[in-house]
Amino acid sequence: MRAMVLESFGAPLQLRELPDPVPGPGEALVRVQACGVCASDLKLVSGALAGTPLPHVPGHEIAGVVAALGPGVSSPRVGERVACYFYLSCGQCRNCRAGRGTVCLASAGRIGFELDGGLAELVRVPAALCLPVPEAVIPEAAAVAMDAIATPYHALVTRGRLAAAETVAIVGVGGLGLHGVELAHCAGAQVIAIDVAEERLALARELGADLTVRAGSAQWPAPSLVADLVLDTAVSSQTLAGDLALLRPGGRLVLVGYKPGLTAGWDTAALVLNEITVLPARAAGRDECERVLDLLARRCIRAVIDRRYELQAANQAFEALRGGALNGRAVVAA
Ligand SMILES: [Zn+2]
Ligand SMILES: [Zn+2]
Repeated sequence: MRAMVLESFGAPLQLRELPDPVPGPGEALVRVQACGVCASDLKLVSGALAGTPLPHVPGHEIAGVVAALGPGVSSPRVGERVACYFYLSCGQCRNCRAGRGTVCLASAGRIGFELDGGLAELVRVPAALCLPVPEAVIPEAAAVAMDAIATPYHALVTRGRLAAAETVAIVGVGGLGLHGVELAHCAGAQVIAIDVAEERLALARELGADLTVRAGSAQWPAPSLVADLVLDTAVSSQTLAGDLALLRPGGRLVLVGYKPGLTAGWDTAALVLNEITVLPARAAGRDECERVLDLLARRCIRAVIDRRYELQAANQAFEALRGGALNGRAVVAA
């Protein structure tokens, strides 16, 4: 099979011909139709994340068709369209039993991080992580559902407990933030979108944002804006300072962005005296991925795909994301 391989951190991916993976017991082989490109991939290829063995095939937003099954697998069936949930959580530990598998205490890794991922023609995955894709959902949408849609769902609904008629501010409307705008709008919230790029703000308005604010302008931070919940998908020292200024006393701040080494330097008086709840949110659970596939099938939301690239052009997708040029997700199709 052809695959885009990371051979050394900080270097571009290399197109290589690798032996086709063979599915073992309990595993499925998936022919990749689409693989989304995420900011986590940029961190991974730069070497900022621990635990990636080299050489490595990145890519964790995967959808495709089941090509073969290992011994003992009865579901999915060969030929079935699937999206691949990418956390190999144990299912048994205290966190898994509480529905918090992304912070599993005995994780076997993640597809596209510790294990080879979807920037390839074929990927080997645990059969149990293959989610059926509804007929109405195209492969590109099913792929980005696994992270760019499921993660803001987990952040807003599960962690943030967003309620209808609340006001939510979404700081950074990139791949995750734009889907956050749709999800919050569809939940009946008033949505404020904040970003540095006017094109992305225009797209956020199309997707349901009631108010948009350009970061770095005189409009923000602004004392007139008040939110019940802030979702920060960007997370920089500037946004972390601005997030608190947006929240009403008693409000919730949900963080999905992160940068290794960046500390959150809040005034403890502002946190404590206003009883601000800070809720970090990591990716999403398998059941949440199934729910967003259903939301896509019922057309409550749509996947925001900006650009499509051939497998061998995956480095260009990374460059577009790195340069802040995307309005929505970039997807690589094998
Ligand atoms: Zn991701
Ligand atoms: Zn576990």
